[in-house]
Amino acid sequence: MTRSFADRHIGPDSGELARILDTVGVDSLDALAESALPSGILDAGLDALPAPVSEHEALAELAALAHANTVATSMIGLGYYDTLTPPVLVRNLLENPAWYTAYTPYQPEISQGRLEALLNFQTMVCDLTGMDVANASMLDEATAAAEAMTLLRRAGRSKATRLLVDTDLFPQTKTVLATRAEPLGFEIVEADLSGGKLPEGEYFGVIVQTPGASGRIVDWTALIAAAHERGALVAAGADLLAATLVTPPGEQGADVCFGTTQRFGVPMGFGGPHAGYLAVRSGFARQLPGRLVGVSVDADGARAYRLALQTREQHIRREKATSNICTAQVLLAVVAAMYASYHGANGLRAIARRVHQHAADVAAGLGAAVVHGAFFDTVLAQVPGGAEAVVAKAKSRGINLRLVDADHVAIACDEATTDAHVAAVLQSFGTAEALPEVAAVGQGLAEAEAALTGDAPTPLADIETRTSDYLTHPAFTRYHTETAMLRYLRSLSDKDIALDRSMIPLGSCTMKLNATAEMEAITWPGFARLHPYAPVEDVPGILGLIGDLERWLAEITGYDAVSLQPNAGSQGEYAGLLAIRRYHLDRGDDHRDTCLIPSSAHGTNAASAAMVGMRVEVVKCRENGDVDLDDLRAKIADHAERLACIMITYPSTHGVYEHEVAELCALVHDAGGQVYIDGANLNALVGLAKPGRFGGDVSHLNLHKTFCIPHGGGGPGVGPVAVRAHLARYLPGDPREAGSHAVSAALYGSASILPITWAYIRMMGADGLRAATLTAIASANYIARRLDAFFPVLYTGENGMVAHECILDLRGITKATGVTVDDVAKRLADYGFHAPTMSFPVAGTLMVEPTESENLEELDEFIEAMIAIRGEIDQVGAGVWPVTDNPLRGAPHTAASLVGDWDHPYSRETAVYPRGLGHTRPKVWPPVRRIDGAFGDRNLVCSCPPIESYQD
Ligand SMILES: *Cc1c(COP(=O)(O)O)cnc(C)c1O
Repeated sequence: MTRSFADRHIGPDSGELARILDTVGVDSLDALAESALPSGILDAGLDALPAPVSEHEALAELAALAHANTVATSMIGLGYYDTLTPPVLVRNLLENPAWYTAYTPYQPEISQGRLEALLNFQTMVCDLTGMDVANASMLDEATAAAEAMTLLRRAGRSKATRLLVDTDLFPQTKTVLATRAEPLGFEIVEADLSGGKLPEGEYFGVIVQTPGASGRIVDWTALIAAAHERGALVAAGADLLAATLVTPPGEQGADVCFGTTQRFGVPMGFGGPHAGYLAVRSGFARQLPGRLVGVSVDADGARAYRLALQTREQHIRREKATSNICTAQVLLAVVAAMYASYHGANGLRAIARRVHQHAADVAAGLGAAVVHGAFFDTVLAQVPGGAEAVVAKAKSRGINLRLVDADHVAIACDEATTDAHVAAVLQSFGTAEALPEVAAVGQGLAEAEAALTGDAPTPLADIETRTSDYLTHPAFTRYHTETAMLRYLRSLSDKDIALDRSMIPLGSCTMKLNATAEMEAITWPGFARLHPYAPVEDVPGILGLIGDLERWLAEITGYDAVSLQPNAGSQGEYAGLLAIRRYHLDRGDDHRDTCLIPSSAHGTNAASAAMVGMRVEVVKCRENGDVDLDDLRAKIADHAERLACIMITYPSTHGVYEHEVAELCALVHDAGGQVYIDGANLNALVGLAKPGRFGGDVSHLNLHKTFCIPHGGGGPGVGPVAVRAHLARYLPGDPREAGSHAVSAALYGSASILPITWAYIRMMGADGLRAATLTAIASANYIARRLDAFFPVLYTGENGMVAHECILDLRGITKATGVTVDDVAKRLADYGFHAPTMSFPVAGTLMVEPTESENLEELDEFIEAMIAIRGEIDQVGAGVWPVTDNPLRGAPHTAASLVGDWDHPYSRETAVYPRGLGHTRPKVWPPVRRIDGAFGDRNLVCSCPPIESYQD
């Protein structure tokens, strides 16, 4: 029999599976399903899914879809630009599993590579914007603007609820700002602020953008001063390429900067994913949402990176959280940072000058039709009554221009623009004769290469107002050759543990196989080079793929409608709760503002509820971890008329299928509330049960968990929101339309990574998906059974079964021996493993999720490492090793820690080869020892350390 894709995706073969099931105590996968899940919710049919195909067939179908799209020359602009990704970055970063299969760097000792890359990203953003502190990425420009808005409100002194916004913001930014402002009770006032004056009234903040949507460049210095005088803070959207030439907003006095780094080597991808950014003045560092990489020291005093100020993260702040962002855009932030490292300051400046030169050529050709004198890359042309005709003519020449209105056309130049494009644009306006001689197509490339070697057009005095230096750090001067860049990328990824080394048993995160056949298509031009606002007739292939996926996900979840717009799980939650809110409002139930959330919930749940203006009420859990239905009844009675919804996770974050879930949903529905089921744990349901059928009104899914989009080191993600029919009309709309309740800048969010999920479902088929789910459950139960005697499993369901993950309780062990979850997590690195999820959802525990992709050999390796660690803990417990000096507390051990004096009660060999030298696996050498997080928070450094410190 030929092996199918499902056989390659699922780790254990039939023989291994038999042994796993034997240990679990069931004789088949079907018996497992019956034993683990409540019978009332079992609902297997996935009839709407097509029969599975092989890797090569799926790739051929994807190729046909990509081919159906027209890859036009995009000169639409509006925050999305064609870019030339250096091939060294495509192959060795974007398409390299050492980078894309990594997880969020919560275990910093084995994440130094991506942490350094993110620190470069932060430094790059600070340098280019002229700000002091930048975070490690946002989801896109529009949501970064929305985060900037709420930051202005909480960081500023003004208690006003009005926000002033310049008319020339990107339309999608305005829409997302409006979506976010409404539930928070903010009023947005739009005005043309280019004159430097504020309209009457009190505002907590002002948001401007440079260059504007029209391409116009405005010096905001006077306006910012006026705003400050009136007690308002100012956030400015800024294009980072323009900022290499034009005075950046930070130097004009802005308090916050936001934007996208897309044009730094990240393909447009029909809307995403790309890294947004957010940067602030130093006084506001503690107000920044999202992740912030900082510099600290390890146990030996060596420099080490880790996420700074982690206590601000929403999982700790819960309903007090000010943002719900969790998964961000790490992989794309790393691409953008490496693009800057590769080109350096001179290279970027040359690219920017070339882009500007092309725009200037367009403007020269158009003469009096040009609306704004000061522009960077985008020219706005006035053609009374003729705009549509011009756009149509350009289209016939293979170029998409932006139709602004009947009388205006905008033309955006980018890194890929050539003289031939400029000529074709001018011909579309019928002004080609007025042009100086235009070069042939081939010459455009020579010109592009000249730009990259720094032999660029002469500076253009008109817009080059920037005088300050940027990107002077070695991170941006050392890697300009391909050899140097190749080795830099390799040296960084070698410091990290990703899925290409060993299993990553992170509970709730579903670190499963990201198959190569799923990944192939994402860099194909037919998907990667599409502008999100390209004409519909250009994009039938990707729209067909999106339609398939919406239907398939509806079938899998049992819901009626799906939106792929949200860029992460948190954004799906937000969109889902907005739908619930709008549903109640439309029915006149404006008093329904209370969201019930079990105490075990993921932190994003409460944070999302707070963002839609709901009050969070916590429902207790019982001793066995289940939601306490008595407490739920009491809370429902307490809040009666005010009940908006409940947010539960299923199976629960305790890794258990609660048997009373149907009753729980009925209680809430009977009281007039809606049921939100967090779908992060869908890997335990696909093909077995459907949240839309057993009681949910709305769910989000995490395609980067259940559906094989790799975690990318902490992003990208896709968090589709799925709803029952009565909520379908409240799904997020088109961000280009005002008032559409869009939650992202692009209608289909991170569209260019949807082929991954499409390929997964296409290759697995209904039976493959069901087998994957059951195998994931079997493997989790296998680990639970085998480790229970060493680390007690905290919660189990009715038949002593767990779902797709299990919580190992270390609290008793810690009490008895002093060895903590941290010690165990760090010690696992010495054994070559990434730690499980630490202290979520219960402090002092580890949550293990093996997924279906790990074979029995790997499961056993992990189990044996854990058992060996338990043996080490017992040595500490027995007093053989002191609690302050043992292989666990000393973990992880670096190669450097072995040389020189060794003054520990355990041997060097125990430290680094705990399984013995004969062990067959390549040794993973953590690059740093245990990192002192508190030191770094006290001495906050969030950009690349100064050059001198490299010489120490
Ligand atoms: C991962 C997760 C989320 C958040 O998803 P992101 O994509 O990181 O925003 C929400 N709820 C649960 C239970 C999760 O595990």
